[in-house]
Formats: sequence, structure tokens, C-alpha cells
Amino acid sequence: MATITMQCEPVQVSTMTLKTEPEPSPLLDLPLDIMFEIVDLLPLHSKVIFSQTCSDLRAVVKNETAQKLLSAPRAERVSYLRLREKAMPHYRLCYMCMRLHKLEV
Ligand SMILES: [Zn+2]
Repeated sequence: MATITMQCEPVQVSTMTLKTEPEPSPLLDLPLDIMFEIVDLLPLHSKVIFSQTCSDLRAVVKNETAQKLLSAPRAERVSYLRLREKAMPHYRLCYMCMRLHKLEV
């Protein structure tokens, strides 16, 4: 009778999983009145950025918030554009025209 010997090697199982959709933020589980309290404490430029993160949060922040930014003091607009610049690595803020310009490579 033949004996078959099997050798088992430990298999590395990756704990990293691929996600096709981002998980909803726990922030969205907050009661709306608490959410409004938080949004009210944010400076204008942060309110606009906050509203641009997803459609649910856009609904929390009033539509006129982005309009207010257009007539806000220059420092407030610079703060907003610098936050946008951080999220867009191929763009730079131009202080002359107060816009983000795509970098030429
Ligand atoms: Zn420019």
C-alpha cells in the first residue's frame, strides 16, 4: 500500500478587502438638529467644503452658503480655495485672479 504525504504550508490571508463603495460616514447618523448645530459653528469656507463632500451633507447646508462665499472677504475666499487646492494636487491657487489653475507638466 502506498502512502501519500501531504505538506501543508500556512496560507497568508490578507485582511485587506476591496471595497467598491465607501462606507457611509457615521456623521450621517447624527440627528439633524445636532448636524445643524455643528454646521452653524463652521466658518463659511468650511461650510461650503462640507457641503461638497456628498449629496446628503449638501442637503444639510443651505444653498445660499456657496453664494455667500462669492461676496465674502478675500481672506475667506482664500481659505476656501486653499482647502480645494489641497484636495486637487494638480492645481495651484493663483492669488492674482483668485482661481485654481491646472499645473502644466
Ligand atoms: Zn490666475
